[in-house]
Amino acid sequence: MKTLRDAEFQGKTVLIRVDYNVPLDENLNVTDNLRIVSTIPTVDYILEAGAKVILCSHLGRPDGQPNPKYSLAPVAAEMKKVFEEDVLFADDDEVVGEKTIAMLKEFKESDTRLMLLQNTRFRSEEEANEPEFAKQLASLADIFVMDAFGAAHRAHASTVGVADYLPTYAGLLMADEVKYLGELLEEPLRPFTVVMGGSKVSDKIQVFRNLIKKADAFIVGGAMAFTFLKAQGYNTGTSKVEEDKLDLANEILALAEEKGVKLYLPKDVTGSTEFSNDTPKAAYKIDEMPDDFMGLDIGEETQKEYKKVLLNSKTIVLNGPMGVFEMENYKDGTIAVLEGIAGSKDSVKIVGGGDSAAAVAQFGFTDAMTHISTGGGASLKLLEGKLLPGVKVCL
Ligand code: AMP
Repeated sequence: MKTLRDAEFQGKTVLIRVDYNVPLDENLNVTDNLRIVSTIPTVDYILEAGAKVILCSHLGRPDGQPNPKYSLAPVAAEMKKVFEEDVLFADDDEVVGEKTIAMLKEFKESDTRLMLLQNTRFRSEEEANEPEFAKQLASLADIFVMDAFGAAHRAHASTVGVADYLPTYAGLLMADEVKYLGELLEEPLRPFTVVMGGSKVSDKIQVFRNLIKKADAFIVGGAMAFTFLKAQGYNTGTSKVEEDKLDLANEILALAEEKGVKLYLPKDVTGSTEFSNDTPKAAYKIDEMPDDFMGLDIGEETQKEYKKVLLNSKTIVLNGPMGVFEMENYKDGTIAVLEGIAGSKDSVKIVGGGDSAAAVAQFGFTDAMTHISTGGGASLKLLEGKLLPGVKVCL
């Protein structure tokens, strides 16, 4: 992959596609600027190499129409704070219209080093990846840097189309994601353990299929564990089970056996009679779950076993929580697994995005991890072994 370290930026204008799809409150203030902060290494690198930077991003779903609710104006204000320098905001409903073209001239002649375009999804051509819009974006700059990992699984004009018209490089954020969720797993340090949790087997079936070829062990928790347990003939009471995926679960179990991969399932579980933190918590061995029981976390014995496996692993991918970690009563399984990961010595510790990243932050394990993915859908696709369109353009 070509990364920005391979590019020559001196005196150039660089278009960077970032993922500034940040949450806003009702007064349109940015409530979490992590996505902006995460781009500092890439933006600083390019600025220090002597280039001017134009950033573009989508925000929300304006469906191809200009809509003030989805304007990037609040993002421009937040950028000024994060980068501690002036940002020229091209408030142009056409994204690359007359206003932007005029501003570009001003930008090039001024000392300002950062310019932000309006929401790329104000143009219907964005999601349709129409060449005309891609060409317009490309006409603003000399080089394109793709750093929007969260949008890399979508082939849009600003993530993929523009690369047809400019020399293209991956930003530092993208490069890290591809390294840890892709390349590194091709030749992992062993033992390589994958922690699979969360709500559905069906969402993660392709991740199983891909990583089962590479891993030494799988640790399974979350609601998906109950689909596996039911497939093995256990009574799972009222636990969340994907009834139509029992064959799939058996298929994964058979595949693991065929490949000699150890697949750990819970031996005991905790839960209640309802999906609630307020009804009494109960613990059962998996062959003793009553009909009115809903499993909401892995039990103590399982926590100990999973932790031990993780402490002895050298590459770990965490992909989903072990239980309903949002509830006080059912966070222990997820914490035990996080302790096992954090305590493993000299290991590479990789966290898939979404809920896993949220749990890592909530329980204070952020600093212990080697890499925490910033993507949701894009992280899953990489773990599935897919070549993302936004990565392909950087090859
Ligand atoms: P996912 O988005 O697929 O990674 O799923 C994460 C969600 O799964 C979290 O919100 C958890 O609360 C939920 N979850 C984990 N374990 C269970 C369980 N045993 N029953 C129901 N939901 C669960």
